[in-house]
Amino acid sequence: MTGKPNEYLDNFNPIVSLAKRRGFIFQASEIYGGVGSTWDYGPLGVELKRNIKEAWWNSMVHSRDDIVGLDSAIIQNPKVWEASGHIEGFSDPLVECKDCHQRFRADHVDLDQCPSCGAKGRFTPPRQFNLMFKTFLGPVENESNIAYLRPETAQGIFTNFENVRVSSRKKLPFGIAQIGKSFRNEITPGNFIFRTREFEQMEMEYFVNPDQGSESLEYWKNERLAWYIDLGMLPERLRLREHEGDELAHYAKAVFDIEYLFPMGWSELEGIAYRGDFDLRQHQEHSGKKLEYFDNETDSRFIPHVVEPASGVDRSLLAFLVDAYEEEEVNDQKRVFLKLDPRLAPFKVAVLPLSKNSDLIGKARIVYDLIKADRLTDFDDTQSIGKRYRRQDEIGTPVCVTIDFDTVEKDDSVTLRDRDTMEQIRVPIADLRSELANRF
Ligand code: ATP
Repeated sequence: MTGKPNEYLDNFNPIVSLAKRRGFIFQASEIYGGVGSTWDYGPLGVELKRNIKEAWWNSMVHSRDDIVGLDSAIIQNPKVWEASGHIEGFSDPLVECKDCHQRFRADHVDLDQCPSCGAKGRFTPPRQFNLMFKTFLGPVENESNIAYLRPETAQGIFTNFENVRVSSRKKLPFGIAQIGKSFRNEITPGNFIFRTREFEQMEMEYFVNPDQGSESLEYWKNERLAWYIDLGMLPERLRLREHEGDELAHYAKAVFDIEYLFPMGWSELEGIAYRGDFDLRQHQEHSGKKLEYFDNETDSRFIPHVVEPASGVDRSLLAFLVDAYEEEEVNDQKRVFLKLDPRLAPFKVAVLPLSKNSDLIGKARIVYDLIKADRLTDFDDTQSIGKRYRRQDEIGTPVCVTIDFDTVEKDDSVTLRDRDTMEQIRVPIADLRSELANRF
């Protein structure tokens, strides 16, 4: 797969400004000057985020019989992170420029020259920097009260393997899915919400008989790639890349990244790892609790193997925004619109009275009340109709319903405007609900 970037975007600036202007994403603590690459989701961002999580949960949990959900705590016993290898090894190589004192991830920078001040050969030797956020449980700040904010949601799944298996009476193969916040003290966050220190993950651990691991990896690779495409992402901007040699984590038997062609180039959207029995075995050894599985059919006992698709909510959201962003010339003016799949679009429909005339507003309210229970609908009577169409285009609303003087004086019909084609058709109010149902 070669891929073609979004021709309108050489960087994130247009997305960052649209996201702020329209209420998707704001800089966190903006009135205080922000705080190191953290972001808040506004009224539309939170809807988009919920829709992405819901689409993932539907495809992973609700539409299947073999996967159940979990919501484990962010703070776990520190022994969890000892067993998982995070205390020992969850680190990135850090270098510092001796001239400007900027710090970088050694594997993300040309070590001959500092990208910040241009100094040559002035980097310190790389040292390992642990990415876990440390805190203390309770009022006493000493070694024995140290706790960590989880750097991934997966370990809460492994430690609950037995609880979930027994309580939900699952037999192999089965999976446990979880969506939640994770924290990593990244050395160089950036690229808008691509890499942040606080982010949300959607992870699923699929437990299989050891001889089915490779087959399951194959299955999940295809399944997960298809999920993004089904939600409208252009296939030529997606690819699978296998980890090779040194890149392969110590616990993994094989890893494939789903990469998206972001403005800065191909970058990871999701990792799909065949982790063997590493995690359950480690937790069995460290906790002293048996985490084996007894297979009645083969009369054998073993530690299940695991295939893990691990995706980022924020990173997916960024990819969906980049992918949906379109510009075109209409009557010598630039039109920007988000071609979001209707399942992801924050508002599915917007009801717009043509002007501030009270008869039109009254009628528009009746239309709004008629359709709003079916799907999330916006009501907007603020500015000129042209500006309101522009706003709905930019927030990706698939259909606008406009109420004009003909509606109240003549035909009791409304105009439906399609976001992508701008095609307008006239529909009697009596048929509106069924017409919208057909479109979605
Ligand atoms: P990277 O190599 O980019 O640091 P990773 O390989 O360490 O990422 P995983 O541990 O595989 O990432 O995490 C699974 C997913 O979680 C990633 O594919 C990404 O979507 C998301 N993710 C990981 N770290 C971050 C972060 N700092 N900010 C936003 N999303 C993240």
